[in-house]
Amino acid sequence: MKEIDYIVVGLGIAGITFCEELEKNKKTFIVYDTGNVSSTKVSAGVINPVVLKRFTPVWNAKEHLETSIKFYEKLAIKLGIPLFEKMSMLRIFNSIEEQNNWMVASDKKELEFFLKPKVIKNKNLNINAPFGFGEVNNTGKVNPVVLIENYKNYLLKKKQLKNEVFNYNSLRVTIDEVFYKDVISKKIVFCDGVSAKNNPYFPSKTKISNAPLVIPNKGEYIYIKSPELKLYSMLKASLFMIPLTKDLYKVGATYDREDHSVKTTQNAKEEMINKLKTIINCNFEVVDQVAGIRPTTRDRRPFLGTLLDCENKVFFNGLGTRGITSAPSLAKSLYDYIENDLELPKEMDIKRYYKW
Ligand SMILES: Cc1cc2nc3c(=O)[nH]c(=O)nc-3n(C[C@H](O)[C@H](O)[C@H](O)COP(=O)(O)OP(=O)(O)OC[C@H]3O[C@@H](n4cnc5c(N)ncnc54)[C@H](O)[C@@H]3O)c2cc1C
Repeated sequence: MKEIDYIVVGLGIAGITFCEELEKNKKTFIVYDTGNVSSTKVSAGVINPVVLKRFTPVWNAKEHLETSIKFYEKLAIKLGIPLFEKMSMLRIFNSIEEQNNWMVASDKKELEFFLKPKVIKNKNLNINAPFGFGEVNNTGKVNPVVLIENYKNYLLKKKQLKNEVFNYNSLRVTIDEVFYKDVISKKIVFCDGVSAKNNPYFPSKTKISNAPLVIPNKGEYIYIKSPELKLYSMLKASLFMIPLTKDLYKVGATYDREDHSVKTTQNAKEEMINKLKTIINCNFEVVDQVAGIRPTTRDRRPFLGTLLDCENKVFFNGLGTRGITSAPSLAKSLYDYIENDLELPKEMDIKRYYKW
């Protein structure tokens, strides 16, 4: 039997950020991951501290932003790959009223660090923005495909990744230890995203309303090629447009709580093309389409920590809303809770579920 400190199930952004905490603190661990249903890989990887519909800061915006940018820059150096790029975000205004709302918002203490207090004129004739743009500072994007592939290789080389399905039925947990196949571990951390629905240790439903704890929310993106567009910032209108390599853009996303498959759909493609045609007026070609399932929660906060029955089974889930931005800071809070006896803020503690 191999004795280690931690088993980690799942290598999306939750798994990766937690592994980084473990490595930083010299803990031994093994990860099980198939990557079959990876929300992280599909995500746009946008790091953006502002709700661009209402011009309000996102939850813990400043803390999550500062921690995540440092995290991805450091990880890029460690893995030797370009992983994170600072890139400004433009929000298309739809009216004079929106311009005014932006100026009011940019004057507020909690937003002055993020919103540029001016209306930027549109000089790109391929973009429909007669009322101009607002610009968000301190934004950027992670390349999630590059992140996942390279992190997997990094762990594989160190023999810390099992590219296989974690079979929950083979797991045995006692007060002191966790047993799985030929491994004995002190703790197990489930970072299994929407696949937690197959995890018998994760509460499937709330007691009072019977609603699922992790609510699957499917999102699709199209990739378009447009040599004429010449867009060099991320753009938010009825969709996000994210410049990738030369002439290639990621455009989306959709939201669907009914369809839980990771297959791409014609409906979503048409919805995005129709919206896109209202934002830009140059030629483009759809070259690819992807779909993923966000592990969302009813209060838009993650589920971290342990349940009352056992301290060895740890959960890190519910990252469907801005998981790329929040995960580095959340992983640290989770590690401090497990190893350093620091309390988890109640709003992110999975124990809040007992009240539902
Ligand atoms: C379309 C879309 C766009 C998004 N855009 C953004 C964005 O721009 N910015 C942002 O911050 N967030 C964004 N998000 C949200 C966020 O990125 C994700 O929801 C977050 O990455 C979830 O990460 P996770 O690690 O919890 O889950 P996942 O990334 O899904 O990872 C779970 C992993 O566990 C593995 N797994 C599960 N069960 C098992 C098992 N039994 N055995 C082996 N492996 C298993 C899965 O295969 C998977 O690899 C977006 C999400 C989607 C879907």
